[in-house]
Amino acid sequence: MNEHGILVVVSGFSGAGKGTLMKELLKRYDNYALSISATTRNPREGEEEGREYFFVTEEHFKDMMEKEDLIEYAQYVNHYYGTPKEYVLNQMRMGKDVILEIEIQGALKVKERFPSAILIFVMPPNAEELKRRLIGRGTENMDVINARLRRAAEEAEGMEAYDYILINENIDTCVEEMHRMIQVQHNRASNN
Ligand code: 5GP
Repeated sequence: MNEHGILVVVSGFSGAGKGTLMKELLKRYDNYALSISATTRNPREGEEEGREYFFVTEEHFKDMMEKEDLIEYAQYVNHYYGTPKEYVLNQMRMGKDVILEIEIQGALKVKERFPSAILIFVMPPNAEELKRRLIGRGTENMDVINARLRRAAEEAEGMEAYDYILINENIDTCVEEMHRMIQVQHNRASNN
């Protein structure tokens, strides 16, 4: 019997509403921990060091890579993003299921290293809604938004690597569905 928590990888187009979903999941259930990534991009308005991300220089990031302090890392639209190892492994040892909100390259690496991980892809109800949410957020200029939409189209091609695809039409239903999927996988991993 394995009492460890599992890794829960959540990917999805930037603007698909992942952030809101994760917040709601963590509010409702206390068996989850959220991993905070390190990134070389600048904070957006309203983001705080250590809450959304650890904002680091490229030099610092490369140092973390070399010391193997990251479970995985990837480049996304000109910046590095990576998952710090220590916090995640500690939380798993304490029995928590740890949520990693990461893009597809990282997701594939996690699945390779942690076969019990569950990979969930969150989709907005439709493409127009995606664009509306990205523009509505008002934090990026059109060049960046377009680069992110292009990247979204590329990521769609890798979607079959995921265990589940969730359509985020209704937050409430989506959160409960996600919780249920994770628990099934957690129990399966515990019984192995
Ligand atoms: P954003 O700049 O919108 O916060 O994030 C851009 C993309 O990077 C999103 O798809 C997000 O899920 C992904 N991302 C955030 N942290 C990590 C990480 O630690 N590793 C990887 N591989 N991707 C990440």
